[in-house]
Amino acid sequence: MRRKLAAGNWKMNGTATALAELETLARAFPSPSVDVLICPPATLLHRAAKALGGTDIAVGGQDCHAATSGAHTGDISADMLADAGATSVILGHSERREDYGEQNDDIRAKARAAMDVGLKTVICVGESLEQRDAANTLDIIGGQLSGSIPDQSTGENLVVAYEPIWAIGTGKVPTLNEIGEVHDFIRARLERRFGEGVGRSVRLLYGGSVKPTNASDIFAVSNVDGALVGGASLKALDFSGIIDALSKV
Ligand code: PEP
Repeated sequence: MRRKLAAGNWKMNGTATALAELETLARAFPSPSVDVLICPPATLLHRAAKALGGTDIAVGGQDCHAATSGAHTGDISADMLADAGATSVILGHSERREDYGEQNDDIRAKARAAMDVGLKTVICVGESLEQRDAANTLDIIGGQLSGSIPDQSTGENLVVAYEPIWAIGTGKVPTLNEIGEVHDFIRARLERRFGEGVGRSVRLLYGGSVKPTNASDIFAVSNVDGALVGGASLKALDFSGIIDALSKV
């Protein structure tokens, strides 16, 4: 049985006052029946981890460097994330692929570094609207999966998030059939590469305009084990609605 996961990606949002949202969330879910992960900006990571200490809500980073240390101004190593209290890290988000030209090889190297220090990785894949319109979605996702996911992956250290780029922050969501088709494809690819045991144990999240209002329908789709949520994770009330919906699946 794969344990469900609701993961929030705060992106470049939030200063110290936003920590109150975490306290509200922790009060609402003293012992959640699903895994809950919040990935705040790096500046809040340590304070978020402290605020959530003793709760069942985990914190994670939004990126890490592939090297363990060195002359990389502005970057953060996986070890530093762990030191700040992170247990997970999001890698290969489409905003990083677009803003920084991150390639599958870069993401695989970062994932290796993160796994080496015991972090769980949430590796993101997803197609652009042009790629979907050209019927290239599965080819693109297949390439991202084989290129970004390291060989040392297991059901413990890997989560895959399917995030169609055109659905992120736009209010547009693929049909439930479209989500199901991609999630079934990802599952089949993982089983083929890692064997049935590992392939079936990796959690698959859907991400892209998940809200309390559409979460239940999305969570009913086969091979959807939770969500990676951007905008709706910023407010405890909205994220609570999504956690509630996931808890009822
Ligand atoms: C995301 O950035 O990972 C995301 C899914 O954003 P949103 O929920 O705002 O579409």
